[in-house]
Amino acid sequence: FRLPDIKNEPMRNYPPGSEDRAKLQAALKEFKNKAPIEIPVFVNGKEIYTNKIAEQRNPSEHATVIAKFHEADSSIVEQAIKGALDIKPIWESYPLADRSAIFLKAADLAATKYRYKLLAATMLGQGKTTWQAEIDAAAETIDFWRFNVKYAHKMYQQQPTENSPGVWNRVEYRPLEGFVYAVTPFNFTAIAGNLTGAPALLGNVVLHKPSSGSVLSNWVIMEIFREAGLPDGVIQFIPGSAQEITDQILKSPDFASLHFTGSTTVFRKLWKDIGNNIENYKSYPRIVGETGGKNFHVIHESANVTNAVNQTIRGAFEYQGQKCSACSRAYVPDSLWEKFRNELLKEHAKIKIGPVDDFSNFMGPVINSNSFVKIKSYIEWVKEDGDSEIIAGGNYDDSKGYFVSPTIVVTKNPKSKTIVEEIFGPVLTIHVYKADEFDQILDIANDSVYALTGSIFAQERSAVLLAHNKLRHASGNFYINDKSTGAIVGQQPFGGSRASGTNDKAGSINLLYRFTSMRTIKENF
Ligand code: GLU
Repeated sequence: FRLPDIKNEPMRNYPPGSEDRAKLQAALKEFKNKAPIEIPVFVNGKEIYTNKIAEQRNPSEHATVIAKFHEADSSIVEQAIKGALDIKPIWESYPLADRSAIFLKAADLAATKYRYKLLAATMLGQGKTTWQAEIDAAAETIDFWRFNVKYAHKMYQQQPTENSPGVWNRVEYRPLEGFVYAVTPFNFTAIAGNLTGAPALLGNVVLHKPSSGSVLSNWVIMEIFREAGLPDGVIQFIPGSAQEITDQILKSPDFASLHFTGSTTVFRKLWKDIGNNIENYKSYPRIVGETGGKNFHVIHESANVTNAVNQTIRGAFEYQGQKCSACSRAYVPDSLWEKFRNELLKEHAKIKIGPVDDFSNFMGPVINSNSFVKIKSYIEWVKEDGDSEIIAGGNYDDSKGYFVSPTIVVTKNPKSKTIVEEIFGPVLTIHVYKADEFDQILDIANDSVYALTGSIFAQERSAVLLAHNKLRHASGNFYINDKSTGAIVGQQPFGGSRASGTNDKAGSINLLYRFTSMRTIKENF
């Protein structure tokens, strides 16, 4: 059979006066009127109210509790593991077409009926502006589900085997034996959709622990899966204490895979815990993770300055610098510095920051108080540092929401704390280098523990080529004359190496191989 035509979902911009805008406003209003939304644990097709309740606040106005969610306790985690393993033989024997139909339907539901709800939940719960919510919760979620279907079909058709007379050799793409544990972050709703959806499409069963900062939108994802016809128990929704749930799950002999997006520190800890439990598992677990970054923009003196400035503003400050891929360090040649600085300050002055349901704001709040305090401490550090100067921003205010102004730091020290450490907030550090030391600045840019994304801005081909070669291992996604953020499913497979992750490339066929375990079959006639 032929799959439906699979293309990237067109992005919408919700202009004033449009029907889209009115529907989005209605969805926002509904959540606000009904807040706090009560969210259960969802295990084996049952909504369970545990009465161990935690809160998700609206980061634009933290006095508002947007959702109250029930936390999974150890008996629920046990039921979730058992239920998932019970349904697994049935789910994995579904033909791929039938599993695909569920995810294609989920994508259609996200593109139509649920689009506004997904956006509203992401805006109010995670502090995304409309555009940032659209490219994530709508477009990327939909794309992940549709493109995964396309890739799964392609993978199943690949038969890397030769036959000999009287012998038919073939491979079968089985799911893993056991269950997948998906741990998802606050910053992308689409990542919750993919970290659960990609393994499930291939016949795996998944336990999903959402971040407490995104439970509302992640619950909408679960609602979509239910309406699309996902059998009970295939994806179990278990919000709650990361430590307790994880400890219990990693002790299960049926733990088969960790599918993770989050901090480098947590990922390393989980990896160690898995290592310590290794004798207890039936299989060697597949560990797939996307973690931190310290993403660079290197500007060469042949760069188009206006483009480099615009991309740097967007890469550094969209979603308040809370994308793993955000540009947080830039290297600018002294020959361009005056022009670059002037244009940068001009663009910076245009940035409007405030609550995300005011559609004119370009930036919203950072996610929570911990994050606010961490970012603030970096800004305060800069103010004391003799080598650093804040040329724009540097203010913060958490009286209503967690607002940190877009902050631009210039440092003389190319190894300064804010140009080396991941801040995960709207702080960009620039180092101005001697234009004729381009080669050396590439070495400096390369010298990072992280390697997620990075960009070169240059019009001279030789400069592009040099950067391309010298920065080969400095990022998993390398952009030429574009910002370090905004990978599109099916167009730029996403992921990084070094301390940034296992580089299994979300939005590509490669990721799907990680959740399959091939069986080779030889048949004699
Ligand atoms: N894929 C996103 C981008 O390219 C980043 C995802 C993340 O923050 O984990 O901007």
